[in-house]
Amino acid sequence: MRTQTLTPPNHSASDDSTLQRWLSQPRHASLPSRSRELPAPALSFEFFPPRTEALETQLWACIRRLEPLAPRFVSVTYGAGGTTQERTHTTVTRLATETAMRPAAHLTCVGASRDEVNAVAERYYAAGVRHIVALRGDMPGGDAYEPHPDGYAYAADLVDGLRRIGDFEISVAAYPETHPTAISPEADLDNLKRKLDAGATRAITNYFFETDIYLRFLDRCHAAGITAPIVPGIMPVSNFAQAAKFSAMCGASVPSWLAHMFEGTENDVETRRMVGAVVAAEQVRLLQANGVDEFHIYTLNRPDLTYTIAHILGVRPG
Ligand SMILES: Cc1cc2nc3c(=O)[nH]c(=O)nc-3n(C[C@H](O)[C@H](O)[C@H](O)COP(=O)(O)OP(=O)(O)OC[C@H]3O[C@@H](n4cnc5c(N)ncnc54)[C@H](O)[C@@H]3O)c2cc1C
Repeated sequence: MRTQTLTPPNHSASDDSTLQRWLSQPRHASLPSRSRELPAPALSFEFFPPRTEALETQLWACIRRLEPLAPRFVSVTYGAGGTTQERTHTTVTRLATETAMRPAAHLTCVGASRDEVNAVAERYYAAGVRHIVALRGDMPGGDAYEPHPDGYAYAADLVDGLRRIGDFEISVAAYPETHPTAISPEADLDNLKRKLDAGATRAITNYFFETDIYLRFLDRCHAAGITAPIVPGIMPVSNFAQAAKFSAMCGASVPSWLAHMFEGTENDVETRRMVGAVVAAEQVRLLQANGVDEFHIYTLNRPDLTYTIAHILGVRPG
């Protein structure tokens, strides 16, 4: 078949490329959003235990700002190698007694015997804390992982141990881009399945910046017979250099468009924060348009970006 090119009068080369783009590239009139009538998504927020009094004040200001959003739960991390055991415990029990929110305590296997880990879990149970985020953890100093000789070797073993201690709700970690030390993506998916089969009821993902990475991972989870919720972990970025450094360690790829977004904002905190809000907003809207209705937000103990994301997702105070 012969094709005919229509050339309008006074047509220039740049018009040509505009026309070519219009004819050949995908077009989206608008980002589809879920309707106002649908229930707002369920949110959970992650905090880290404060190291100083000033950071504690900052954390509690953050908690009080986010509390009216009624998250499904809030979780508190456990420092590498269990270094924050006491501070995590204090923060979690304070959340349980002084707020209306349900706290979840992160707990890791690394550097402790089963008895020691069980004792921490039993203490939570006695304090009325019923949700644990069960993790293997990493060796302090970035050394290659070595299970403790008397310890839980992997997160799946910890899930199994926790089930024997009490009726905990258990969440585990998932890696849309595969855990950095996994033998293969398939082995990593098998591991996720083992953790869920051992009694975890939800997986929370490591953060990712390309929405497609999460959606393809979800496809693979479903194909592997996983039916538990795989809640996307959302990392709002306002300090690109720091986020890039951390991403290299935890196996989250950083797309070049993200670097480009933050280029030139190194000494401009206000613009950086606004760019961060726009990037996160685009990501959550795209996920929501794809039917995702649960989100776990890494707050970094700062409320503003998290509050903005919640608002855009349709989650409002009260
Ligand atoms: C949502 C979330 C929250 C986190 N919170 C914390 C925290 O509070 N504190 C902290 O220190 N870290 C935290 N981490 C980081 C986490 O501890 C590290 O990523 C750690 O390296 C892996 O933990 P895991 O629970 O995923 O391990 P696992 O599920 O045990 O897997 C670890 C690796 O071992 C492999 N593996 C599993 N079982 C076996 C086996 N039997 N034989 C051989 N290989 C096996 C897996 O494929 C994977 O590569 C968090 C991560 C996420 C995603």
